Amino acid sequence: MQIKTAKFGGSSLADAEGFLRVAAIVRADPARRYIIPSAPGKRSPGDRKITDMLYDCSERAEKKEDFKSLFKSIEERFLSIAERLGTGYDPCPELRLIKEKLTCGCERDFAASRGEYLCGRLLADLLCFDFIDASDVIFFTEDGRLDGAKTYASLRASLSLHKRAVIPGFYGSLPDGRIKTFTRGGSDITGAIVARAANADLYENFTDVCGLLAADPGIVDSPRVIRKITYRELRELSCAGAKVLHGEAILPVSAVGIPVNIKNTYKPEDPGTFIVSDTDGEGERVIGLAGESGYTLIRLGAENISARHGFCARLFSILEGFGVRIGHLPSGVDGICAVVPTEALDANRENVIKEIKESLSPDSVELRDGVALISVVGRGIGESPKTGAEIFSALSEAKIGVLLIDRGADDISITVGTDSRDLPEAIRAIYRRIFGRRKP
Ligand code: ASP
Repeated sequence: MQIKTAKFGGSSLADAEGFLRVAAIVRADPARRYIIPSAPGKRSPGDRKITDMLYDCSERAEKKEDFKSLFKSIEERFLSIAERLGTGYDPCPELRLIKEKLTCGCERDFAASRGEYLCGRLLADLLCFDFIDASDVIFFTEDGRLDGAKTYASLRASLSLHKRAVIPGFYGSLPDGRIKTFTRGGSDITGAIVARAANADLYENFTDVCGLLAADPGIVDSPRVIRKITYRELRELSCAGAKVLHGEAILPVSAVGIPVNIKNTYKPEDPGTFIVSDTDGEGERVIGLAGESGYTLIRLGAENISARHGFCARLFSILEGFGVRIGHLPSGVDGICAVVPTEALDANRENVIKEIKESLSPDSVELRDGVALISVVGRGIGESPKTGAEIFSALSEAKIGVLLIDRGADDISITVGTDSRDLPEAIRAIYRRIFGRRKP
């Protein structure tokens, strides 16, 4: 029998109707054996996510401010879901405990994790599935990294005892038993870990859109849906700013070749997007594009840079010492340019520049803020004579200057840098040029 692991995002479980919709999807396919819920999300644009409210309560409690009226709205949401579903699970004792712990100054991660915990309890009850607490099967090391060996051993043992189970997303536990969460949106990672431990045939990730789009719908009007994409292409797009899956959710499944299917809870019959190891066919095939602003160019003039041994190594180590990662490193005969995230640089901007000057003695240092990076992603596009030409002619026709070009280490991406103010128009121009003429 096939095994599917299905993760449902917060927008799919925002209220009791959402729970019933999710239950119908799970029941429609007996292979859907392991279910990972997020915490209830927004019911309408002005609403708040339960996780945001829990973080807020924890902050207020820490500052000894009143958090009880806010906590009351959290209680009301869970109680109304439980009442409407008529489940046997009563969330009141757990809600009382959370309130008590908040009053005594519990940790932020514990508070944040309770949205998933309560959601998981209610869903397990509604589905008549077993409940596995994530804190018993997902483990972190002392320094906060996933403890893969311990997690997979424990999760495999636990799943073998439960034919069908709900495992809340987003959290696990530290060696001393305290709760620790992944970064925001981390239920996607839990889903991927469970899929791998269950040796699943498919990891379904249910959200509120019909899959991954070829461009940001906030910029491009009705972009096409990507039907199939490889893990590597998806990682390139995510890294360039496309937001559907958490960036760390791919590695657990790609390592063992489990396909991921992004699906829409509101249209479960829609095929959505498949993320796989390899796509059929050869030749060039553009998948999509994404872009993000918030980069700074650090341009270092250094005559005959190739003769200055260790220059790049020292530049890397200075930036790394300040926690600044280099995104791209275009270089020329007499200079080099490090492209770095502005936010990370700003934490220590003056010290970084001082150390670069002192330790590397460049001929000149110039900083250029307000840079956006746009990556076009797809098979064979690096070597294709067509895609590069399309990107640059689109930008040229839109009168947008190019600050940087990087063809990537392999054949699946071309990245260009523009002024941040040009980002939306650059994306629209490239999209129109590439996809306006191609069949979906
Ligand atoms: N509820 C958490 C968040 O809002 C985790 C998740 O949704 O995956 O970030």
